[in-house]
Amino acid sequence: MKKTVYFFGVGKADGNEKMKELLGGKGANLAEMVGHKDLRLPVPPGFTITTEVCTYYYKNKGKYPAGLKEAVEKAVRRIEILMGKGFGDPQDPLLVSVRSGARRSMPGMMETVLNIGLTTKTIPGLIKHSGGNERFVYDAYRRLIMMYSDVVMEKAAGIEPAEDSGIRKQLDRVMDNMKREKGCKSDTDLTSDELKKLCVMFKAKVKEVLGREFPDNHKEQLWGGIGAVFASWNGKRAVSYRRIESIPDDWGTAVSVQAMVFGNMGNDSATGVAFTRNPGNGENNFYGEYLANAQGEDVVAGIRTPAPINEYSKSEHNRTLVTLEKLMPKIYRELFDYQKRLDRHYRDMQDIEFTIERGKLYMLQCRTGKRNGTAAVRMAVEMHREKLITQEEMIMRVTPSQLDELLHPVIDPKAELSRKPLAKGLPAGPGGASGQVVFRAKDAVEWSRQGKKVILAREETNPEDVEGMRAAEAILTARGGMTSHAALVARGWGKCCIVGAGSLHIDAGKKEINTGSKVIKEGDWITLNGTKGVVYEGRLPMTEALEANKNLIEFLRYCDSVRKLGVRTNADTPEDAAKARQFGAEGIGLFRTEHMFYGKGSEEPLFILRKMIVSKTEDERRKALKELFPYIKKDIKGTLAAMDGFPVVIRLLDPPLHEFVPRDEAKLMQLAKDLNISLGELKNRADDLHESNPMMGHRGVRLGVTYQEVSEVQIRAICEAAAELIREGKKPYPEIMIPVVSDVKELSDQQAIFKKVYEEVLAKYKMKSIRHMFGTMIEIPRACIVSDKVAEVAEFFSFGTNDLTQMGFGFSRDDIGSFLPDYIRKGILKEDPFQTIDQEGISELIKISIERGRKTRKNLEIGICGEHGGDPRSIEFCHNVGMDYVSCSPFRVPIARLAAAQAKIKNSGNKKQGNV
Ligand code: ADP
Ligand code: MG
Ligand code: MG
Repeated sequence: MKKTVYFFGVGKADGNEKMKELLGGKGANLAEMVGHKDLRLPVPPGFTITTEVCTYYYKNKGKYPAGLKEAVEKAVRRIEILMGKGFGDPQDPLLVSVRSGARRSMPGMMETVLNIGLTTKTIPGLIKHSGGNERFVYDAYRRLIMMYSDVVMEKAAGIEPAEDSGIRKQLDRVMDNMKREKGCKSDTDLTSDELKKLCVMFKAKVKEVLGREFPDNHKEQLWGGIGAVFASWNGKRAVSYRRIESIPDDWGTAVSVQAMVFGNMGNDSATGVAFTRNPGNGENNFYGEYLANAQGEDVVAGIRTPAPINEYSKSEHNRTLVTLEKLMPKIYRELFDYQKRLDRHYRDMQDIEFTIERGKLYMLQCRTGKRNGTAAVRMAVEMHREKLITQEEMIMRVTPSQLDELLHPVIDPKAELSRKPLAKGLPAGPGGASGQVVFRAKDAVEWSRQGKKVILAREETNPEDVEGMRAAEAILTARGGMTSHAALVARGWGKCCIVGAGSLHIDAGKKEINTGSKVIKEGDWITLNGTKGVVYEGRLPMTEALEANKNLIEFLRYCDSVRKLGVRTNADTPEDAAKARQFGAEGIGLFRTEHMFYGKGSEEPLFILRKMIVSKTEDERRKALKELFPYIKKDIKGTLAAMDGFPVVIRLLDPPLHEFVPRDEAKLMQLAKDLNISLGELKNRADDLHESNPMMGHRGVRLGVTYQEVSEVQIRAICEAAAELIREGKKPYPEIMIPVVSDVKELSDQQAIFKKVYEEVLAKYKMKSIRHMFGTMIEIPRACIVSDKVAEVAEFFSFGTNDLTQMGFGFSRDDIGSFLPDYIRKGILKEDPFQTIDQEGISELIKISIERGRKTRKNLEIGICGEHGGDPRSIEFCHNVGMDYVSCSPFRVPIARLAAAQAKIKNSGNKKQGNV
C-alpha cells in the first residue's frame, strides 16, 4: 500500500490543495493553509488518512491496510512533539478531533468527533493545564460523550433507533432537564459541578441505552472515531445527499486527526464561521458570525444566537450583540488579514472556520464557499475586474442552474406592499415561493410527490432533513443564522429560504406555527420573500425577475464575446419575441403558426381556422383561408418587427387538424350554422378527420401536400408581412420552415408553391427581392439519412429533437412517464432522453444529417429548436457538432448564452480554469 497518512505541522505539510481526491477537500485545504508559502496560517497540527484507505476499508469488509496502525501512531507522536503534550498522558494530555472530509464538501453529512483522548485518567491533567478550569474540562467531556456515543457507538455500530429515541436526543433531554431544573437559559450557564454531574448521568444513560460502557481509553476512542468516519460514508444521509448531488459512491472519505484547540475555555475564547465575501449577494465584504465560549458546531447549530464578527455582518437579529471586531480587535485584524490572503490565494470566495483559544487565533478549515446565483455572478465579475481570474475562469464560475435561479420568480412587489409580514428572518436563499406548510421532511417528500407545493417549516434543520428540503419549494426555520445548516444547503441549491425567524414558534409535534397572535396549521398557505427574509400568510402572486442586474448584463456580454453558437428563442407571439430580445435572443428559431390560434382573448381566428378545417371543398376552404389571412399576417408581421434585423424561422402548420375541432356542443352548433350545414353533417366531417395515430398521421408537410392552398396562404402572409415591413423601412428576415419532412420531394412540392407566391408578392409590392430562406425541420430519422438530398432544396436545417427523439427511440413523449422510472432504476437509460439529447443514438442521427447536408450545401444553416435547445449539456453537444445556433424558450435564453460560452471554453483546448 502507498502512503496512507499525510502530516501537516507548523509551516510544513505533506499534502496540498491539489490533492483533494486523496486527502478530501478538508485535508487538502488544511495542508495548503499550513504549507503554502503565501499562507502559513496557524492551524493546529494533525494528519490526514487518505480516501484510498476508505476505499480499501469498504473492499475488505472493514479491514484497514497493513501499516496503517503504525503510520497513525507515528503521526500522533509527531503531533505530541509539536504540541508538547502526550496523547493519553495523565499529566498534560493531548486531545484530538477526528474529522471527515470527502473530495467535495457535503456539509454536515458525515461525522466529526471532538475532544478525543479525554478519560478519567486524563481529566485531572487537563484541569491542571487549563489553570484549574473544571467547567471547561467537563464541558469538553460532556460534548465528547454526546458526539462519541452518537457517532461511534450508535450510528457506526449500525443501530437504528426509533424516531426521537436515538442516544443523542436522549442525552439532549437529560441536559435540557438539568438546565430547566437549574433555571439555566444557555448551556454556558451550567456550573462546573453541574457539568460534572451531567457527565456521570450521560455515561449512565449511554450504558442504559446502548448496553456498553463509554470507552475510557484514549486509543480505543481514537480508533473508534476513525472507524466511525469511514462508516459514516455509507450512512443513510450521506448516501441520499450523494444521490441528490450526483457524487459517486466510490470516492470515499478521508479522515483528518487534528490537535484540539478550545473555543470553550472562557470568554476570551470563541469559535466562528465566516466568508471572505458575502455568499448571499456577492459583495466583497468579510462576513461572518462567532460565539464566545463555545465549541465546534455551536455556531451552526443555532444553540445560542451567534454574534456578528463586524458591523457589516449585523442583522436585525444580532445587532445588539457585540462584534468580534469590538471584543477582540487585535484578533479580528489578524483574522481579517488571513481571510484576505485566502480569498486572493484561492482566487475564490472561501468559507472559513476558526477558533480562538484564550486570545490566540487558529484556522480550522477553509473551502470554496457555496453561494447563490446573484452572488456567483457578482463575485465572478468582480474577481475578473480585480484581475484575480481570467475571462474564461469568470465564465466557468457560474453554473447554468445558478443563472437559472436569478431568473426565478419573485413576489410581485405590488402585492407585497399591501401585506403585513407574519414574521421576519434572515434572507438565506433568494427569490419568492408560496406553498402549504409541512413540518416534517417526510411529509414534504410525500406531499410534493402528490403534486402539492410545500414549504418545510422547522425549528432548525439538520442533515436528516435534506430530502424534504429538496422536495420543498422553500425552507423556513425559527432558529439558526446565515451559516446554519438550512442556510448552507439552501444556498447550494439556490432555493428560497428564510432562517432564524425568531418570533415564530414552530412546533413539529403539534404541527403548527405560533406567531404569538396567530396559529398557522399544517396545509395552510404561506409565502416567503427569501431575498428580504419576510414571511407572509397566504398565497401571494409571483412575477419574473430579471431586473436591471448590471453585473448579470455585464457577465452575459462576456459570454457573448466568447461563444460561437448563436442563441435564438422559440416564440409564437410578438410579446414573447420582444421579451426574448431583452434576454438577448438573436432571432427566433421556432415560430409556430398554429400557436396564434391558441389561448387568445378573441376567439375569432380559431373559429375561422375551424371553419377551414371542416371545409369539404377547396372552395369552402379558400373562403375560410381568405378570412384567416389577415390574422396570420398580423401576428407574423408583429413578430418580424419585434425581431427586426434578426432571422425568424416560421414553421408552417404542423399538428393534425383534428386537434382543432371543438368538442363542446354549443361551439359545434355555431360552427355548423356559420358553414350553413347541419350539425349531423358537421359531426360527420369531424369524424372523417379522426385518425388512429395522429402523431404519425396527416400533419406537417403532408397537410400542405394535400391542401396546397393551406401552405399558400401562410407563405403569402409571410411574404406580404415582410414586404410591408420593408416599405416601413425595416429589415425583416423570415425563414420558412416545412415540418415533418422525410423526403426531398415533399420539400420540392412546397417549394413550388413558395416560388409562385414569392414572385406574386414581389410584383404586387414592386420589389426586387425579400431577404428570406426556405428550409426544413429535421425530425424524422429518414430525413437524417437522406439529408444530402434534402439539402438540395433546403437552405437550412433545424433539428426538431423532440420528435426526432420520439421517433428515433419509438418512445411516445406523452407516455414515457409510465416506464421511464423503471428504465432509469435499472440503468437501461441514464436519464430522460427528452431532457438531454441522447448522446449515443439520436446524436448519431444528427451527426449524419449535418455531415450529409453540408456535403451538398456547404453553407447550410443548422440549428436546433427542440426543448433540448435550453439544456446546457445538449447545448454543449450542439456546439461540438458545429451547429450555427440553438433556440429555446425566452427565459432560458440567458442560460443558453452562458452554456454556449462554457461549451466553447471547455472544448477549445484552452482548459485554464480556476480551482473549484
Ligand atoms: P464539518 O465537516 O461538518 O464541517 P468539521 O470537521 O469541520 O465538520 O468539524 C466541525 C467543527 O468542529 C469545526 O467547525 C470546528 O469548530 C470544530 N473542530 C474540529 N476540529 C477541531 C479542532 N482540532 N480543534 C477545535 N475545534 C475543532
Ligand atoms: Mg467544518
Ligand atoms: Mg415536430
